[in-house]
Amino acid sequence: MFYVLNKNAQISTGNHKIHTIFCKRKPDCKNIIELHGVDNFMTALYEARKYYPCVEGCKYCCKEVRLKK
Ligand SMILES: [Zn+2]
Repeated sequence: MFYVLNKNAQISTGNHKIHTIFCKRKPDCKNIIELHGVDNFMTALYEARKYYPCVEGCKYCCKEVRLKK
């Protein structure tokens, strides 16, 4: 399994969502950054923060961790 990052921030929170590639709610491929070589959510979070400071897991596919500031 690997993860993708939404290039567009959520309008409500300003966070960029992390999804698994299997998530039905992940954005169009042109709006995602693929997080290669990532096989768990914590690593996905770490990698995603290299792109954007404010990231969070999708509550549908990344239920391991639901980050709140
Ligand atoms: Zn998702």
